[in-house]
Amino acid sequence: MSDRTTLRRVPDRAVTDRDAIDAVLDEGLMAHVGLVAGEGDGSHPVVIPMLYARDGDVLYLHGSPASRLLRTAKKGVEVCVTVTLLDALVLARSGLHHSMNYRSVVVMGTATEITDRDAKVAALDRLVDHTIPGRSAQIRPAHDIEITGTTVLILSLDECSMKARTGGPVDDAEDLDEPSWAGLIPLGVAVGEPLPDEGSADDPVPGHVAFWSRGPGQVNGRAG
Ligand SMILES: Cc1cc2nc3c(=O)[nH]c(=O)nc-3n(C[C@H](O)[C@H](O)[C@H](O)COP(=O)(O)OP(=O)(O)OC[C@H]3O[C@@H](n4cnc5c(N)ncnc54)[C@H](O)[C@@H]3O)c2cc1C
Repeated sequence: MSDRTTLRRVPDRAVTDRDAIDAVLDEGLMAHVGLVAGEGDGSHPVVIPMLYARDGDVLYLHGSPASRLLRTAKKGVEVCVTVTLLDALVLARSGLHHSMNYRSVVVMGTATEITDRDAKVAALDRLVDHTIPGRSAQIRPAHDIEITGTTVLILSLDECSMKARTGGPVDDAEDLDEPSWAGLIPLGVAVGEPLPDEGSADDPVPGHVAFWSRGPGQVNGRAG
């Protein structure tokens, strides 16, 4: 927490509990990573969607060494990483009071490159396991060329904030007798049946695939 990660608008929606922050980061699949790219007159903000993983008090980002975002960030340009979970559409009796229920986390700081081989392999495994828990133990280890050919950045969670909205619509008192329907449309990540590729068509679906889940926001579209 810092001055620039202190909520000013609707501060009662701030969540400072670190476990709650970790839970959002662990449930999310994708982050939006922002920074100012370029220099001088050519500099401009850019926000790029990326995979990420939390490991204790840090986040990992990874990608091709050719990635402009990673090349810029590892030079020491500050990044802002945002993870948002959408929980519901909130339908009120007036357009202005429509809203969304959400949990979101913003992390700011300077990311650094992981160069130590073992630390890099651990971070790459964590990135796989963040998305599909238990997966890294079920696949072959990364080849050296894959490890050297991937940039991995680490970002501290020291400077982060969380904001959340829960509950139903907040209508003006004089609107409560309006005939329009009000309430919530819950939203979540839809999880369908796993679809094996040709090489796995005759194999049993392993547990980490069959029972893949994504926290409270999951909408289960699997059979049975
Ligand atoms: C869900 C998701 C997860 C991803 N995970 C990763 C990851 O973990 N690591 C990784 O390196 N990349 C990931 N990508 C791809 C990533 O978004 C970038 O396209 C890629 O990293 C190249 O970044 P760059 O800074 O080199 O882009 P550049 O190609 O240099 O960007 C130039 C311009 O291209 C456009 N652009 C770039 N990316 C996108 C995009 N995704 N959508 C629309 N326009 C775009 C923008 O206008 C940008 O200013 C992911 C994308 C998605 C959607």
